[in-house]
Amino acid sequence: MKFYILTLFPEMVINGLNTSIIGRATEAGILDIEAIDIRDYSANKHHKVDDYPYGGGAGMLMQAQPVYDAWKSIVNRINKKPRCIYTTPQGNTFTQKSAKDFAMEEDIILLCGHYEGIDERVLEEIVTDYISIGDYVLTGGELPAMVMVDAISRMVPGVLGNGESGSSESFEGNLLEYPQYSRPEEWKGKKVPEVLLSGHHKNIEQWRRQQSLLVTSKRRPDLLKQAKLTKQEQKWLKEQK
Ligand code: SAM
Repeated sequence: MKFYILTLFPEMVINGLNTSIIGRATEAGILDIEAIDIRDYSANKHHKVDDYPYGGGAGMLMQAQPVYDAWKSIVNRINKKPRCIYTTPQGNTFTQKSAKDFAMEEDIILLCGHYEGIDERVLEEIVTDYISIGDYVLTGGELPAMVMVDAISRMVPGVLGNGESGSSESFEGNLLEYPQYSRPEEWKGKKVPEVLLSGHHKNIEQWRRQQSLLVTSKRRPDLLKQAKLTKQEQKWLKEQK
């Protein structure tokens, strides 16, 4: 899968995405992450990419022309128009479901805003998806783009190694993951739950499912409402409360 990140800070996104699992997948050729410097496409002799907003108001706005030309350079090069995500606090909230959906694409363009944002006219022209990473305002779209590339990449076949699984994690079936433990068996007087040492796979599976239900009901009751529980599980959960 190929990501094209349109940004004013290419080193920031590339340096943030070239380590650990994502870095390994890039080296293996499963992912390809390219950062395109919007400033390189400025028609201004001083490489200026921002200007004052019409109507007044605080801050500067990224201008339409350099953003459009940077986007067009990709489209011309690959001869297709991939989905183009604008990272914005005004977008739909990014979720695990969106990560899975975007992972089906061969190519994705991510557009990072800065300053007060980007001239609306170029957004209308090139953006297919307006996506936010949460209800707060950041200084730029680089961190959101990195968050999205990371979460989307984990859903691309081959990115997670054999030891890492994306299918039994939080948000699968609208549940959070169960608690996990590693060596030693006892730490600060706290023991690993007996069932996990039993080697009895069916019991372990049942314990984990029940723990998932418990954790989700405590921390994310909104999520639990969308989960599919058997009648028996619903009864069991009620008894725990
Ligand atoms: N003036 C804009 C507004 O009020 O909606 C906010 C602009 S913000 C300071 C600058 C850039 O950061 C945005 O263009 C966007 O690309 C990015 N950004 C900020 N918060 C974000 C969030 N929660 N999710 C995704 N992108 C965000």
